[in-house]
Amino acid sequence: MKCPICKHGNTHAGTSSLTLERGNSTVVFKRVPAEVCENCGEVFYDATVTSTLLKQADQAASAGVEIDVRRYAAA
Ligand SMILES: [Zn+2]
Repeated sequence: MKCPICKHGNTHAGTSSLTLERGNSTVVFKRVPAEVCENCGEVFYDATVTSTLLKQADQAASAGVEIDVRRYAAA
């Protein structure tokens, strides 16, 4: 798709890392599927990926995890 941030580049399927904080918990997700802009490097996640990450971050927070680094895994 055309990048909505810089309006010049096109995005391509790739992966990126994302850090989410929930209360006292920090969860770093690696190899998250994303669309990455070839021009400005902006990263876009689709709604399914985003809700999966939020759910997992919430679970980590309820489990009292302080910091966790994990690979993205679809729910
Ligand atoms: Zn861009």
